[in-house]
Amino acid sequence: MTLAKLLAQYIYENYRESVEETARKLSSLSPIDLLVLTILSHKTTSINTIKAYNNLKQVIEINAETIVKTPSEVIEEAIKVSGLQKVKTNRIKKACEYILKNFNGNLDFIRDIPTDEARKILLQIPGISYKTVDVILLFSFNRHVMPVDVHIARIAFRTSLSDGRRDYEYIRQKIEKYFAKYDFKIIHLGLIEYGRKICRARKPKCSICVVRECCKYYCSLVK
Ligand code: SF4
Repeated sequence: MTLAKLLAQYIYENYRESVEETARKLSSLSPIDLLVLTILSHKTTSINTIKAYNNLKQVIEINAETIVKTPSEVIEEAIKVSGLQKVKTNRIKKACEYILKNFNGNLDFIRDIPTDEARKILLQIPGISYKTVDVILLFSFNRHVMPVDVHIARIAFRTSLSDGRRDYEYIRQKIEKYFAKYDFKIIHLGLIEYGRKICRARKPKCSICVVRECCKYYCSLVK
């Protein structure tokens, strides 16, 4: 069995229920909500990301117009549990200003545009990364794209799914190719779980990992 197939099988058998629930919740959010959530998730835990997002939702309605009008200090205070609140507020506001000015505050038009073109348009929004764009495309617009977060990048690098490369676009295309026949929402969220629980940044649990026999990192350790 291939490495991707082993990982997919493990994810479907062990994480399916929880990731389906998360996928359902994320898919119900607007593109602006996802944009805010993904910016908030930078360098923090998922628990603090959700706390910051919920705090912000209690203070303001999350849409481009309201975010632009709201003073930075109000947003900073609401999201401070996620850390880097000044940087994150600045990025959220800049992105919303652009969306308001260029798209009248609404990204729904993306629904009618081919994926490659949509990526190019969304990547022009200041303050948003490739990952944020792909999260929006996957969950808000149901496109077959694979956002690459830090956990997925680590798994791809260690196993050599990414051929030893660390650049976002290369990893994304490789992961999309290897997992092409699976549901990307399940695989994306499942790989993140796998990175949190098994292929951890520190002390990966290689002894219980289903792909250890074909993982370059593990094989180099036991040589
Ligand atoms: S064998 Fe270890 S390094 Fe390789 S994917 Fe599994 S947990 Fe990660």
